Formats: sequence, C-alpha cells, structure tokens
Amino acid sequence: MQASINIDLDTLSDEIDDDARQIRSAPLRAITYERVLPRFLDILDRHGLKATFFVIGRDVAGHAALFRSIAEAGHELANHTMTHPKQLVRLSPEEIAREIRECGGAVHAATGVKPTGFRAPGYTVSPVVLASLRAEGYTYDSSLNASWVYLALKRAFKAVRLNDQDYIVCQPMADTTGPRNPYRVSTQLSQRDANSEFLEIPVSVVPYIHYPFVTSVLLQLGLPLTLWCLRRLVAWNRFVNCNLHINEFTDKADLQGVEGTFYFTEQYAAIPLADRMRYFDTLFTEMKSRCEMVLLRDVRA
Ligand SMILES: [Zn+2]
Repeated sequence: MQASINIDLDTLSDEIDDDARQIRSAPLRAITYERVLPRFLDILDRHGLKATFFVIGRDVAGHAALFRSIAEAGHELANHTMTHPKQLVRLSPEEIAREIRECGGAVHAATGVKPTGFRAPGYTVSPVVLASLRAEGYTYDSSLNASWVYLALKRAFKAVRLNDQDYIVCQPMADTTGPRNPYRVSTQLSQRDANSEFLEIPVSVVPYIHYPFVTSVLLQLGLPLTLWCLRRLVAWNRFVNCNLHINEFTDKADLQGVEGTFYFTEQYAAIPLADRMRYFDTLFTEMKSRCEMVLLRDVRA
C-alpha cells in the first residue's frame, strides 16, 4: 500500500477569524516559517522521508531561499492558493483562476519548479476549481475530505465558535459519497472518468469511524487511535493520504507575547512539544514499515 505525508503551510495568521488578521499577519507568518517549519523538516530528515508541502503563494517570494532548499531536498511543493481564501469556492471563476495561477507562478519564480498539485483551503473544492486546475496544466487535486464526521464537526464549529460566521465554507454533504482511493475524476467531483488525465486524491477516510486521516484532528485523540486508523486503512487497501498542518509543530513558547487567539494551535500547544514529536516519530516509523512512501505527484490511478 502507498502512503503520502503532506502538510498544509497555513500560518498562525491564517487561523484568526476576524479582521485583525490583516494587521497581525507579518510577525505571525514569520513565527511559522522561522521557528515552526524547521521542526517538521528535522523529523523528515531524521526519517529520510520526502513530503508534499501545500504552500500559500503570497509567502513564497519572502522566503524564497527556504522554499528552494525544500525543493532541492527532494520534497514536492504544491499549490494551496495565493492568499488562502476560506471562501475560495464562492469566488468568481476568474478570481479562482487567479488564486491558482499566481501561487503556481510564485513557486515557479522562486524554485524553477512548477507545481502540479493543488489543495483548496478548508478542503472545499468545486467543479469550477477542478476546471481551473485542468486549464492551468495541473495533474491532481487533493482537496476532497469525504468524511461526513469531519463535515458535521466543521458545521458545528462554524455554528458555535466562529466570530465571523461567513469565514469558513463547508463542502456539500453530497460530496461525501465519492471514491475512497485516488481516481481519475470527471468534471463532477465525485464521479470517475476512465479517460480523464486528472486525478482526485482524496484525504483518507478511516473505515468504520468515517474519520479523516488528518493529524490535526487525531493528535488530541492520541497515538493508539491514530495507529489503529493507519492499520485499518492498510487492511482495507486504502491509499494512506496523511494530512498535517504546520501549526501542529508550534511550541507554547512560540505563542508567548503574541496577541490573538488560536483555537486549533492552542489545542496542539497544550500537548508538550516533545510528546508531539514522539507522536510523529512513531507514526512515521509505522507508516514506513507498512507502506511505500510516495509524493502525491507520483500517485497513479
Ligand atoms: Zn490551508
């Protein structure tokens, strides 16, 4: 069975759900790139693993040397839009195309490599997004998180927690019925087309519990459950699309003196950093022993 480790580089400033995020943006982004990201790169190095990084285009030029070194180390840089709009699917087709094109251009300008893969902010994707990716020459999308448990939790979170109710878009529940393994996708999200050259690589959904294999929502539930999920995916011959977010590597000390509340990062940071590093060490060791590790751009269907 094949497995991928892939990480979304949403910075601390992308987690604030009010207008002040614009003001706080620059120093918060610096924390993520300068202090947090090196911890993840260290783990990969120690395990000799290559990962797919979904990058936000507006940050690339300011950290060009960092992104070049990541690409030169053999990792994959993929497109996570130019500005990370949580409302991507509500934008006009022209605006969606621009979000995709500008991020791809920023990565190409900084590293000389053009991304071939894409993940939408918040796992929200639509036929318009897929059409735009095809037009830009992309070969895969990995945005579909077809877990109804995840969608139900997200809807509840949006209803009770967010200051700005409009800030997060949820995928239609109807999209939870699609294929579970990478597939050649038609112009419609959950439909196959054997003649299509374009792949959808869904985030893995764990059998029985219908939970996504996303460490951001597994970390708090502990290592034994996470390893149980991995074994279920392997037993069911599911491609292991393991999705992380860079804020999972934030230390409590990184947040000291920082203004703003970070609902998710504060939950991760409540777990001692050393324990989280051990969690990922064990998870990656187990993945390597059970799976062939691949970059998303090398997945075939
Ligand atoms: Zn994101």
